Amino acid sequence: MTTVTEDPNITMDIFAEHESEVRSYSRSFPTVFKKAKGYKLWDTDNKEYIDFFAGAGTLNYGHNNDAMKQLLMDYIESDSITHSLDMATIARGNFLKKFDEVILRPRNLDYKVMFPGPTGTNAVESALKLARKITGRTNIMSFTNAFHGMTIGSLSITGNASKREGAGIPLTHSVSMPFDKYNSKADSLSLIESYLENSGSGVDLPAAIIVETVQGEGGINAASMEWLKGIEKIARRFGILLIIDDIQAGCGRTGTFFSFEPAEIKPDIACLSKSLGGYGLPMSITLFKKEHDVWEPGEHNGTFRGNNLAFIAATEALTYWENDNFSQEVDKKAKLMHKFTRKVSKDYPQLKAEPRGRGMMQGVACHVDGISSKICEEAFQRGLLMETSGPKDEVFKFLPPLIIDEAGLQQGFDIIEDSIKAVLK
Ligand SMILES: *Cc1c(COP(=O)(O)O)cnc(C)c1O
Repeated sequence: MTTVTEDPNITMDIFAEHESEVRSYSRSFPTVFKKAKGYKLWDTDNKEYIDFFAGAGTLNYGHNNDAMKQLLMDYIESDSITHSLDMATIARGNFLKKFDEVILRPRNLDYKVMFPGPTGTNAVESALKLARKITGRTNIMSFTNAFHGMTIGSLSITGNASKREGAGIPLTHSVSMPFDKYNSKADSLSLIESYLENSGSGVDLPAAIIVETVQGEGGINAASMEWLKGIEKIARRFGILLIIDDIQAGCGRTGTFFSFEPAEIKPDIACLSKSLGGYGLPMSITLFKKEHDVWEPGEHNGTFRGNNLAFIAATEALTYWENDNFSQEVDKKAKLMHKFTRKVSKDYPQLKAEPRGRGMMQGVACHVDGISSKICEEAFQRGLLMETSGPKDEVFKFLPPLIIDEAGLQQGFDIIEDSIKAVLK
């Protein structure tokens, strides 16, 4: 009998034959995976891969975390509630209670928690709806190279032209402004302020400004803390709501639980997903200040808002945030990544490279067409999963699980350097 984990009949041909052309990561990483643990994966040829991809930032706590796995197995074994829409369950209650105790209260964040559908884009859509409902305005201000998801509302505030084209309809009710340092000749903050002040600018007062503190898909562009403070100031001055999309940069990716903590700002609305479910299970939440809780019951609904397995793992994941140890560990590894991105940029001038990012969300932008994609392909051959980012795929991007050890990081760096050498040869 073949088992799910050892079935020799599953080859790449099956995906090419049956699965739509829309598939993407099975093209970047063309092998059949069968097993994963911590920061490693294995394919059906038993080849080992170091994971510098982490499910695009969904696996901050690594693959198949032991503590979460045990709790999930116990939960399933005891026939506890698996699906429940938004009915009250112990798993849901435990998550809410611990999220308040470990995350919100110590940070003085007096937020209500909303469970939209379990994807990131659903959290974003709910945030946009809420901002429009609160203010009675329609437009949303977003930024160059922003990525917020693939449904219509999220696409309307996304920068990337090819993703926008996929919508197939005009994307409206949004206005795009330059992200921090997008244009070195213009100061983004004063530009935005002048557009809002000037009655001849053609920019209507928006309901909300939505921003990623570090643009994940858009090229690992890290906003400065001054810029983020400035954006909050503009939002307050004009009575615009501030939404932070912390779907990729949050859950500890930059060292603090929320990526906006070091900027000392307090968004009106914040979106979390990706690593929130801890084990890679789908889950997302939208947080907002209590005075903004103007929803009617059921006004934003969804069948899968009660993913109790995700609540179990997500609650366990919060244990990492009960003290500062994990944060400090992330900072330490972020420094090693920082050092490596500088070293690569200096040692390989042919790459025309520029280090980017913050925390354990870093990358190297190469201003030579196509070279970052080639480096990722070489790295895959050598046993490293790493993806590109940016409008021209110009950035090779490091997003390992936060629990990776220093030896694992170094192994990844060595593969990257070998790959760069091979591409430049
Ligand atoms: C991944 C991502 C989303 C969309 O999440 P999905 O679960 O893919 O819908 C939105 N915003 C940011 C910043 C993301 O990285």
